[in-house]
Amino acid sequence: MSGTLQLRLEEVHELARSACEANGCSGEQARAIADTITAAERDQCHSHGLFRVPFFVRAMRESGVAPRAEPRLEELAPAILRVDGGLGFAPLALETGCNALIERAREQGIAALCLNNVFHISALWPEVERLADAGLVGFAFTGAIDYVAPAGGDKPLYGTNPMAFAWPRNDQPPIVFDQASAASARGEIQVHLREGKPIPEGWAVGPDGQPTTDPETALAGAQLPFGGHKGASIALMVELLAGALIGDLFSYEAGEHDRAGVGAPRGGEFLLAIDPARCVADGNREAQIEHAERLFRRILEQDGTRLPGQRRFEARARAAAEGVTVPRSLHDQIQAFIAGTA
Ligand code: NDP
Repeated sequence: MSGTLQLRLEEVHELARSACEANGCSGEQARAIADTITAAERDQCHSHGLFRVPFFVRAMRESGVAPRAEPRLEELAPAILRVDGGLGFAPLALETGCNALIERAREQGIAALCLNNVFHISALWPEVERLADAGLVGFAFTGAIDYVAPAGGDKPLYGTNPMAFAWPRNDQPPIVFDQASAASARGEIQVHLREGKPIPEGWAVGPDGQPTTDPETALAGAQLPFGGHKGASIALMVELLAGALIGDLFSYEAGEHDRAGVGAPRGGEFLLAIDPARCVADGNREAQIEHAERLFRRILEQDGTRLPGQRRFEARARAAAEGVTVPRSLHDQIQAFIAGTA
């Protein structure tokens, strides 16, 4: 029997939704989680796909999540919105906040969203892509759990702290980058461990502070920021934006909440949306877009280049035709969560 299964996207969605609902989520929370997981599988971002279902289930059992929470939207200032996720999972709170953020950025030219009190923020590209699909420039920032050493240190303090950016284009997918400020996402190390593969050099040090390529030793030690002090400064900025600025937890505080070591952190996210046409005196959006396209053409003139987001958009087109490949062991584990036998 093969170690993998081919699933249609609807089957991925149903697996994720059923596992979350069978373990306590409201229908809306489960549907929003399944939307996020299916999008990640579709775009070949496996560390945020079905691989995450056991983390959601464990978080409901061990982390004090409110899986039936209904997110509440409020206005803090004309261009600053807040969503209190009520200690539910992030996807439904993000959905609530992003729709309002889009409207507000169109009205005001620029708007921010402070998302508080949620568990398990996933990849950030879905939310910035949603902003770009609405014609806006988008930014998103979130902390995690203290896994990453500050520059020069060897003890975890920062989260892997991703930030994402999206630029809208005409008649084609937006430019989107979404990257951890660590040398790798933690999920990538977990995927290497699951697959029995070594991690690249430069991703982590072990508990003894020495560089390691063994995923298990890396998970017990400290991850490293990308690019030394430069990545560490971005991790620091993300801590401040998604922690102190919006009145939510720093990554080390989220780590203190996650005593069970579930790895589905509690925290917040900060998003910014800008209406690009409102940033030029003549409001000429077509000229602005064409100016950006000239830069993208210059990039692609060079051999070996591609635009950020392109890999995902290509994977998305393949998944629509072929479905996605899922490890059988993961599929069986999720079925056991649905049946109540795990
Ligand atoms: P990667 O290093 O795989 O990719 C980072 C970005 O760079 C992507 O947007 C990618 O685009 C782009 N990119 C990669 N190669 C090239 C290239 N050759 N030319 C141009 N662009 C390129 O991501 P990370 O491992 O840093 O992060 C993975 C995910 O994990 C992210 O989605 C992040 O949000 C998430 N994460 C979530 C955390 C959380 O706690 N919520 C914590 C840390 C990470 P493309 O997608 O097209 O490959």
